[in-house]
Amino acid sequence: MKITTIETIPIRLPTRRVHQWASLTTPIGVYVIVKLHTDEGWVGLGEAPVLKDWGGDHGKYFGETPQIAVHIINDILAPALKDQDPRRFETIHAAMDKAVKGYPYCKAAIDAALYDVAGKALNVPAYQLLGGCFRERVSIAHSLGLMEIDKAVDEAIQAKTEGVKTIKLKCGVDQKRDVELVKQIRKAIGPDLNICVDANQGYPTAKAAVKITKAMEEYDLLYMEQPVEGIDQMAEVARRVDTPIMADESAWTPQDVLEIISKRAADIVSIYTTKPGGMFKAKKIAAIAEAAGLPCNVNGSVETGVGNAANIHLAASTGVVTLGCVVPVSSPKEKAKKGIAGIYYQDDIIAEPFAFDNGDIIVSSKPGLGIELDEDKLKHYSLL
Ligand SMILES: [Mg+2]
Repeated sequence: MKITTIETIPIRLPTRRVHQWASLTTPIGVYVIVKLHTDEGWVGLGEAPVLKDWGGDHGKYFGETPQIAVHIINDILAPALKDQDPRRFETIHAAMDKAVKGYPYCKAAIDAALYDVAGKALNVPAYQLLGGCFRERVSIAHSLGLMEIDKAVDEAIQAKTEGVKTIKLKCGVDQKRDVELVKQIRKAIGPDLNICVDANQGYPTAKAAVKITKAMEEYDLLYMEQPVEGIDQMAEVARRVDTPIMADESAWTPQDVLEIISKRAADIVSIYTTKPGGMFKAKKIAAIAEAAGLPCNVNGSVETGVGNAANIHLAASTGVVTLGCVVPVSSPKEKAKKGIAGIYYQDDIIAEPFAFDNGDIIVSSKPGLGIELDEDKLKHYSLL
């Protein structure tokens, strides 16, 4: 089997509500969908959930835009991969890394399409190519963007009634508000649900992050995610608080995670399919974290159903991913479940909704990524 052409389609999905975090400067929902065609007629789907303001610590990795992703994939990656066998994952990754340095989100889109194509051709789900199904359900964390406290409380209560077990709170802009938010959310949802906080590097110093994390500790935090920018700063926070610290913006590559481990800069690693450049490489990060005894979750960039299918196959096949995952319950509007748990968009480009039960996404066992595109929706939301 050979790769023939790779299509790129930038799209915009309508959001359910504003979903804001500390470093975000453009609304979520604009992403690049990839269709990877083969000479045997199989078509693989992938997604580059590019964001211009999403990057590693201190400019180590940097933002991508839909226009950049289209250029990199169409003009550099597609020519480099033409006529290659899409089932040779490591070979293709080596070819991509040789063709262009960086641009992991573009490479992750191709990577997802490879697993989709290979899975369809072999008639197995993508997780079968990633080590097999370790869990049939992936517990989600429902993420509350920066918003007024009373609105956040209402949404947290509703998410709880819909079965969600972990509430994630975006913080990092207003320190007093953040502590009050955690207090009010704990009061509203009771002692049994998990609360985690994601500051998106928003606290100005390690000392400030220590103070605020300690102030939140009486409300029982599952973890504090990326309170500050930089692995050394993270290490200082991790040393001085009892709450587990999760690395997200600091943890993109296997080398980042090795540094985090050697400096004891985090207790938990947030794995993406995208930050390392695809599921193939994300599995290597998971292995490193597991060897160091660090549990993980799978986070993302509030992807469409295409990217989220990849997130679910990664979470389903990776034992060390034991924490609730921020993966949307992607659903086309005509067939969407009632409610808001895991719902960030009014619609999606996939034909069937993710199955959702009592706070968990049920892992699909269909071949490849297990999704089908609604071509009319793709046209409708296309930015071309
Ligand atoms: Mg995060």
